[in-house]
Amino acid sequence: MHKPQKAPGRADVVIAGAGIAGISTAFHLAVRLGVERVVICDPLPPMTLTSDKSTECYRNWWPGPGDAMVALMNRSIDLLEEWAISSHNVFNLSRRGYLYVTGDPVKLAAMEQQAGGISAHGGGDLRVHRGRPEDPPYAASPPAGFEEVPGGADLFLDGRALRSHFPYLSPAAVGGLHVRRAGWFSAQQLGVWLLGRARAAGVGLVADRVVALDISNGRTSGVRLASGEMIETDRFLNAAGPLAADVGRLAGADLPLFSEVHRKVSFRDVRSALPRHAPLLIWNDPQTLAWSKAEQAELAEDPDRRYLVGLLGAGAHCRPEGPAEAATVLGLWECHTDVRLPEFPIADDPLYPEIVLRGLTTMVPGFGEYLERLPQPYVDGGYYTKTAENRPLIGPAGVAGSFVVAALSGFGIMAAAAAGELGALHVVGGALPDYWRWFSPDRYADPDYLTLVDKMTDSGQI
Ligand SMILES: Cc1cc2nc3c(=O)[nH]c(=O)nc-3n(C[C@H](O)[C@H](O)[C@H](O)COP(=O)(O)OP(=O)(O)OC[C@H]3O[C@@H](n4cnc5c(N)ncnc54)[C@H](O)[C@@H]3O)c2cc1C
Repeated sequence: MHKPQKAPGRADVVIAGAGIAGISTAFHLAVRLGVERVVICDPLPPMTLTSDKSTECYRNWWPGPGDAMVALMNRSIDLLEEWAISSHNVFNLSRRGYLYVTGDPVKLAAMEQQAGGISAHGGGDLRVHRGRPEDPPYAASPPAGFEEVPGGADLFLDGRALRSHFPYLSPAAVGGLHVRRAGWFSAQQLGVWLLGRARAAGVGLVADRVVALDISNGRTSGVRLASGEMIETDRFLNAAGPLAADVGRLAGADLPLFSEVHRKVSFRDVRSALPRHAPLLIWNDPQTLAWSKAEQAELAEDPDRRYLVGLLGAGAHCRPEGPAEAATVLGLWECHTDVRLPEFPIADDPLYPEIVLRGLTTMVPGFGEYLERLPQPYVDGGYYTKTAENRPLIGPAGVAGSFVVAALSGFGIMAAAAAGELGALHVVGGALPDYWRWFSPDRYADPDYLTLVDKMTDSGQI
């Protein structure tokens, strides 16, 4: 484990936050860019607030406007693959893909149109399967590893063709999109590996909270900690995850952030409703749940639960977790947006496992076996801390010498490699990749950007 140390009197860069964003940025600064005295401050042990609660999935497939999200994620996945090779894949990078499934022909047409755009923006080749003899070949993903899997995506415009490869899907599925530069890995192992290499390159870890910034002549000059210690520095980076808006204020930055509660349930799929080799499965349609009349009446009477009898949002998703012999399934569905000021631990929702299971049963009818008797579920979760357009904030923010890597929403695990790199390049004044402007906190001053955001119809969030 990584033992914290006493705050040094001086540092070249101080980072607030030892989640995946702070750790990745520290790694890039120390290991790749050779910055000598980097210190991460966090009152919590590394990777324990949000970064250990994720579904640990990644994909390069993101909607526009522009190609910036695809470019950021492709860069992140390039780095993940490079690190997987050099570490003998200690973090188990796999590439089973994301399979978006729909039961609605209108949605399928929209899926086809959007897929063409993302493919052209760098997502990779699109192979279209219509259930005809002249269809291109479809290559299944191996259960483990990430090499020799095709990139791009396979679009199934025919329900039977889709179910010939994924027979456990509902007969109601009329088509789907299997995104291939996508899968999952152990975020915790990645964090441990990156932090180990960063510490070996001299990165310090101080178990303390940043409570104030010293500013001299309009520049960052030091960081004050809750213990009363002070670290002199002229560069500070805010990687405080759900608390990034509070930390931003210390640097005089008003970061446009809000936080949504997102939970995740895990349970043992003892009846093997989901094959162990399945990809991440996402039901792409809004849906209503089949409650009994008595249940409906009971829910309708409760102002906090009434929404459950109406049309619920798209995006119920699940994947198998662990080795072939394990039976764990992870399920998620925030069918009702719940924006809150971050509080820890997150509020409990005893109905969450049942709601998720019901939502998933629409896509994988085998889960219906559990509706009578739910397997013992375990629920955790955290916040998607995000901007309105669901894109990160990476770059200078507030007083000179202060930077941010935050607003990583529901994609911080997959984006951290490239987000940390971009943050580190800003800190050292290095050459920036083309996509930097799209993520710079000052982008909201550009009226053209605001116009683009206004026209956005899909933020890519599931
Ligand atoms: C249910 C769920 C599922 C998810 N699934 C995925 C997924 O499949 N793929 C994916 O890519 N992402 C996923 N995410 C999102 C991902 O987990 C987050 O984007 C990511 O963990 C954010 O990392 P972070 O380092 O910014 O924040 P955190 O991990 O929250 O770290 C922030 C750290 O800052 C510290 N801090 C706060 N204030 C201070 C201060 N004043 N001084 C010092 N330190 C401070 C905190 O203690 C904390 O340790 C999911 C999230 C949730 C909740």
